Amino acid sequence: MAYLPNEVSGPVPNDADRMFWHYCQQHELRFQQCGSCRRFRHPPTPVCPYCRSFEIVWVRAPDTGAVFSFTIVHHPAHPAMKAVVPYNIVVVDFPACDHVRLVSNLIDVPPQEIRIGMEVMLAWETAGNGLLVPRFKRKQPG
Ligand code: ZN
Repeated sequence: MAYLPNEVSGPVPNDADRMFWHYCQQHELRFQQCGSCRRFRHPPTPVCPYCRSFEIVWVRAPDTGAVFSFTIVHHPAHPAMKAVVPYNIVVVDFPACDHVRLVSNLIDVPPQEIRIGMEVMLAWETAGNGLLVPRFKRKQPG
């Protein structure tokens, strides 16, 4: 079973992030890198916010990152979430990609054990609408 219930449908790709989700469907987490100044950015945008270039390179991210921040949700804001509270929302940092950050969930760690700086590894799950979404597990030592 996925971390969030199937009633939480999943992402709806738009013009800006369509390629991000396209790569996710191939089990590839990729971030945009500017083809001119080489800086990474996320979420995806059509124009580099640093140098205004339209050149985009999609670079494969490492399978590991670190928890930059997190919150534990106790109140089910939607009836579908009632069965899964408390659940976490984590912000995962990727130092190798200019510290771009991805909002996701940590699927195998009890809320009281989540720590800022905790190393995590990529774990793909299928959302309610059938799209693969990047989620994370605790990185095992070694
Ligand atoms: Zn740039």
